[in-house]
Amino acid sequence: MSQSGMKYVDEFRDPQAARVLLRELDLSIERLGATPSKPLQIMEVCGGHTHAIFRYALKDLVPPALEFVHGPGCPVCVLPMGRVDDCVAIARRPEVIFTTFGDAMRVPGSQMSLLQARAEGADVRMVYSPLDALALAEANPTREVVFFGLGFETTMPSTALTVLDAERRGIKNFSLFCNHITIVPTIKAILDSPGMGIHGFLGPGHVAMVIGTAPFEFIATEYKRPLVVAGFEPIDILHSLLMVLRQLEAGEAKIENQYARLVDPNGNRVALEAITRVFELREFFEWRGLGSIDHSGVRMRAPYARFDAEKKFAIPNVRIADPKSCQCGEVLKGAIKPFQCKVFGRACTPQTPLGALMVSSEGACAAYYQYARRAHIETAA
Ligand code: SF4
Repeated sequence: MSQSGMKYVDEFRDPQAARVLLRELDLSIERLGATPSKPLQIMEVCGGHTHAIFRYALKDLVPPALEFVHGPGCPVCVLPMGRVDDCVAIARRPEVIFTTFGDAMRVPGSQMSLLQARAEGADVRMVYSPLDALALAEANPTREVVFFGLGFETTMPSTALTVLDAERRGIKNFSLFCNHITIVPTIKAILDSPGMGIHGFLGPGHVAMVIGTAPFEFIATEYKRPLVVAGFEPIDILHSLLMVLRQLEAGEAKIENQYARLVDPNGNRVALEAITRVFELREFFEWRGLGSIDHSGVRMRAPYARFDAEKKFAIPNVRIADPKSCQCGEVLKGAIKPFQCKVFGRACTPQTPLGALMVSSEGACAAYYQYARRAHIETAA
């Protein structure tokens, strides 16, 4: 990294700046009258924020009357079991090379994960981008290469651009199993859930880089909650928290952009054009633990049907309920903390995940397990 790059990162990890912000947070919390027994709940929507909050121990540094609620922002964590089963069914076809990101390979389906399917002979390969999958298709013209596309608007543009590239280059043995999801209906579903007690949101910085800040306006206008689009360094997160609290103190609800160094209020035009060209909203999409949410996922538009794995292959498409002992849904909605799940750290660990929240490093349970396990297991025992 260049020296100027180092300086740029260092600025957002400066301990002195953190101390000042923490003091300001303390004072603001005091003015707002929150207490540890009646804390202010701030939801970080994005799994990247969850990871940063644990990595930099921000959870323990902020005033005890300020509580982070970990939202459904880890795309791997919200994959329903039935979709994993669909992946396994496609991957087991002899003509198929099934490709996806590393995390997705470990998510448990009802019978097995993709990794276990690979151990049993399916040709499942890890890739770093959809373009790697397209290159595999080009190199293996007698096989069908399927890319398992998942994630919010953050990863959607690269998948859309890959499909457009496949079309331009006339590659016929490439297809996408599309499980991309959209953030706005998801936040709306959380805001509509009974007993919702969240006071404000840290908005997802990476998604906002693509879609801008305008799509979040309804949170302020309709639900009267503040949202601050936040960066991912510790100072970004503390600063964004303070911006949320300042709004609460002023009795305001606005959408603000703390991550303005990378987020344009109008989003990224090229990325949005690619998304709109290739994808359209599904009427509904099933989420792990959250149920079906209207218009919360996308599928491929008709002109790209030949690249659509759902059309190319017969897919079981069966809904499978999570095992009874899994409380992923309650964790995703912020109703319980990961360590309050009955199987946390015992039957469910990163090595033997029962639920998807334990799989990805951005999952709330994996983060708790990695950074705060001992204290919580001891408390729960
Ligand atoms: S501990 Fe495991 S089963 Fe429980 S909520 Fe977390 S991931 Fe789900």
